Amino acid sequence: MDLRERVNALARLPGAASPVVSVYLDTRWADEHQRERVRVFLSNGLRKARTGAGTELRADLDWIEEQGDRLVAQATVPEADGVALFACGPLGLREILTVRVPFQNAFVVAERPLLTPLAALAEEALPAIVVFVDGSHARLIPIDPAGQGDELTLEHGVPGRHSRGGWALMAQSRYQRHVEVHRDQHFEAVAEALQELSAQQGGVRIVLAGEDRMVAAFRSRLPTTLAGRVAGTISAARYETASTLADRATALLARLDASEQERVLNEVLTEAAKGGQAIAGVEGTLHAVGRGAVRRLYLLRGFSEAGAACTTCAAMQPGEAATCRACGGPTKRVCLGDEVVDRVVTAGGEIAVIDAHAALERAGGMAALLRFPL
Ligand SMILES: [Zn+2]
Repeated sequence: MDLRERVNALARLPGAASPVVSVYLDTRWADEHQRERVRVFLSNGLRKARTGAGTELRADLDWIEEQGDRLVAQATVPEADGVALFACGPLGLREILTVRVPFQNAFVVAERPLLTPLAALAEEALPAIVVFVDGSHARLIPIDPAGQGDELTLEHGVPGRHSRGGWALMAQSRYQRHVEVHRDQHFEAVAEALQELSAQQGGVRIVLAGEDRMVAAFRSRLPTTLAGRVAGTISAARYETASTLADRATALLARLDASEQERVLNEVLTEAAKGGQAIAGVEGTLHAVGRGAVRRLYLLRGFSEAGAACTTCAAMQPGEAATCRACGGPTKRVCLGDEVVDRVVTAGGEIAVIDAHAALERAGGMAALLRFPL
């Protein structure tokens, strides 16, 4: 499943007679209380949403309840740490998306699906391959935000190190060379398999895993094209499960991405200050969104400012004014962050949700890289 495609498809949904229900859940059941928290969260959300709901919305909520019960009972997708559900009867929408990172719980009934959590994830968790290697084994574990792919295990017949008696002592140096030749062949074979898998997945990033010495030896034998894709290394032992390695690699990639994102965002804010092809601040970003000029939106996580969207000319403005300041038409109340994300995705732009960034916070929590200067 390509998450970005799913986000785009949801953004393109037409309006319908009945609202869309969007539910995001944290389904990391490792914490024993989490199951109960999700159960209570769902039951509160459902109760509120059912108040005054029409027939079609009621049917959607029944479906959400049924799926929620199954999730909490762990009858479905026990592996997923995050689940998103979307329902809208008139649009024929009944969708469950499972991902490998937890969502913050959210329950929204609105004209449009809530896209922010999914759009943010689609941007930040790009696919990768974890390669565990030791002297005679290798495991290739593809990971992407939708989950972990099938593990491929490679084994090479390297002779064991155990030796007995005088023959082994005499032959030790020859034997050692034999082992090393085999190891080189093994590493070469693994590199070849990795090359194929990487080509299949469209040149994804690689995380090397294993004992430092083995990883270093393997890395030095990688062809340049693959070596250039290595994002970093993690320590790992052969007995550890694929999902443990995938989690460790995901955490490493998230750290790397966060520091890269921080660097890029600083550049964007500098560009905005110079009046170039970027803009900072809520007003400026709203203006850019209205012009369809946003290439990439930067939104502070937890941004919760309310706003008003004109039902006549679609212009957005901060605050809760009942009339549009552009055309004087009536407005509806919106969550500004989600509204902006929806419009940027619909116009083909990208979304970056930033955990913490002092300068972005000072700028009001919103900035954008533009397609053209305004
Ligand atoms: Zn207006």
